Amino acid sequence: MSEVKKIAVLGGDGIGPEVVGEALKVLKKTEELFGYKFETEQALFGGIAIDEKGTPLPQETLDLCLASDAVLLGAVGGPKWDSNPAALRPETGLLGIRKALGLFSNIRPATVFDCLKDASTLKPEVLEGTDLIVVRELTGGIYFGEKSRRDTENGQEAIDTCVYNEKEVERIVRQAFDIAMTRSKRLASVDKANVLETSRLWREVVIRVAADYPEVELEHVLVDNCAMQLLRRPASFDVIVTENMFGDILSDEAAMLTGSIGMLSSASLGEGSFGLYEPVHGSAPDIAGQGISNPIATILSVALMFRLTFGYHDAAQSIEDAVKAVLDAGHRTGDIAVDKSSAVGTNAMGDLIVAAMKK
Ligand code: NAD
Repeated sequence: MSEVKKIAVLGGDGIGPEVVGEALKVLKKTEELFGYKFETEQALFGGIAIDEKGTPLPQETLDLCLASDAVLLGAVGGPKWDSNPAALRPETGLLGIRKALGLFSNIRPATVFDCLKDASTLKPEVLEGTDLIVVRELTGGIYFGEKSRRDTENGQEAIDTCVYNEKEVERIVRQAFDIAMTRSKRLASVDKANVLETSRLWREVVIRVAADYPEVELEHVLVDNCAMQLLRRPASFDVIVTENMFGDILSDEAAMLTGSIGMLSSASLGEGSFGLYEPVHGSAPDIAGQGISNPIATILSVALMFRLTFGYHDAAQSIEDAVKAVLDAGHRTGDIAVDKSSAVGTNAMGDLIVAAMKK
């Protein structure tokens, strides 16, 4: 008997609850197939929490997350709360939960499914075999450094400061090496060491940590070159690790390789194995409640949870293979369908994936 893993489930707003509902079906099927045990508990988060509790991140939701092994999040936000003051906006809850849970890295896989190669703006032959992960530092760098303005003879001057210390760099770099060890053991560390001091420190730390991972093939790539190579030879990357702002930009670029936002999973990790897992997409208010959203991003987020937090690689593979099999069989939700009239709905897509899961 495996131990029970506790998962806090935050459906959120818009299509969040519907895509999370399909992911819960996958959890149940995993229990049946593999004998793993999950205890799930739902809590309010985002706009719905503002409506019912007066805050996007109620204390009881945070307490539940802190007492759990992992968090599964749908999406938050919507026009209803867009004109609220900052403290009463769903997105403030996102920043708050990441901070409160000490999540310092964001992990985004970009996998190109062969049968969806045509959905991308890049040529199919360039995309062939693309299966990479961007590991982005989330709590340091220029986004969080000191900001100021001053008057000069040339008008106002604005200053953003980029700061990193060795500890911040080492913890995320180790995470990236650990992830590379579970994949094809290739790591690209992206920096701008020819110009930036923070990047030179970054590179020194990467080289030092690399000594503990002799099996991993390491390359240092300058960020401008990486931006080019992602379009030229995306399949040659496996794991990419980089600082906050570079990662923000490169992970969006990598996302576009896959062609559809409804397919992209993500994880935010802190110390240890704890993680928050969510689709990259938002709450899609334009299609909420119609039963047509694509649940694959959220279902693949569960696979990511199995790999990164629980080490259940067999169950993760089962989910990933099932998604591929369902797509190969021609089933599509509206967002990825060429012929929209034959598209399946959210529920049907979830059921098809559950039915395709095998031990
Ligand atoms: P969005 O990702 O919600 O939607 C962008 C487009 O993609 C829409 O046309 C939508 O219908 C489509 N789409 C997204 N996910 C889909 C899915 N699973 N299946 C099919 N189609 C899908 O981005 P947006 O419209 O810019 O933002 C809507 C709301 O979501 C905003 O309030 C925003 O702040 C919020 N948001 C939340 C998160 C989060 O919770 N992490 C992330 C991004 C945006």
